[in-house]
Amino acid sequence: MLVDVTAAPTFTSRPKVELHVHLDCSLTRRALNRLGNPIGEAEFRRLYTAPERCDNLMDYLRAIGPSAAALQTAPALAIATDEMMRALAADGVIHAEIRFAPHTHQRGGLSLDQVMAAVTEGLAAGAEATGITAGLILCALRDYPPEANLTVIELAHRWRDRGVVGVDLAGDEAGHPAAANRAVFDRAHVLGLPVTAHAGEAAGPDSLAEVMALLAPARIGHGVRAIESEDLLAEIKARNLHLEVCPSSNIQVGVYSDYADHPIDRMSRRGLSLSINTDARTVAPLSLSLEYRRLAVAFGWQTGEFLAHNLEALRHAFWPEAAKPALGGRLVEGWSG
Ligand SMILES: [Zn+2]
Repeated sequence: MLVDVTAAPTFTSRPKVELHVHLDCSLTRRALNRLGNPIGEAEFRRLYTAPERCDNLMDYLRAIGPSAAALQTAPALAIATDEMMRALAADGVIHAEIRFAPHTHQRGGLSLDQVMAAVTEGLAAGAEATGITAGLILCALRDYPPEANLTVIELAHRWRDRGVVGVDLAGDEAGHPAAANRAVFDRAHVLGLPVTAHAGEAAGPDSLAEVMALLAPARIGHGVRAIESEDLLAEIKARNLHLEVCPSSNIQVGVYSDYADHPIDRMSRRGLSLSINTDARTVAPLSLSLEYRRLAVAFGWQTGEFLAHNLEALRHAFWPEAAKPALGGRLVEGWSG
């Protein structure tokens, strides 16, 4: 157990904003049931989740395999997205940004536009069923050729009015510098697409500085290893960059050995703009409510911290500014008392 949360409040009914969660790491058992592949809870855990602390990356990747394999048809993508929205709503999430790499869902022969049609259909169904709002972030991958990543940017542009809110750089940070994708993200900026990028997780401050200098993102996925550089912390603050922090995910893949070692509390105290995220709801397995319980126990976080970080998440969400005050009002109301 990462943190004993038995004495902590549950947080399930508290309203939350989640900005960093991957579709292919969050496939639910209910989605598999609806797709005609019923699976018992124990078997689901064994096949689709990774240990809370993985000994190596293979432990983690092994758990993503079955989910990735399942998400290669239009019905699977639509139902998985719909069910993910329902899981988010059940967790108290009122607004989410769900990300995925479209190219990784083409093994069954779907075109990129067919992938998008299926995911946006599921997103609309989930929004209708739950009343929550969500946008899609399309991921370019560090280990993919820049030409393939450029098609992701163009795809995001084409689907921007139909659910897509931004683009991301994901994939193996340690082995693939961001420089190869500079022109890809130049194109995203030309098209006016909001940009976030994974950095400062598997690699340290140099990788973060590279991404900030070359890709000019508005937000950073993780970014926690900025804590190793005073210069970087100052620059992140000066640029008003937002960090999408995923504490349990970092511990699961061994960036930090223990929850108490995680820098989220130190970063929060230094006034950095950050949000709390799951990254991978099924592979973890994790809910945002459980993550909040861990933060409450490990660092004594209370209503004030949680509300502040949710308001920061909303402020930096790739969502129409006109829609934010109503969501902000629900956050303030839901965290009062
Ligand atoms: Zn991620």
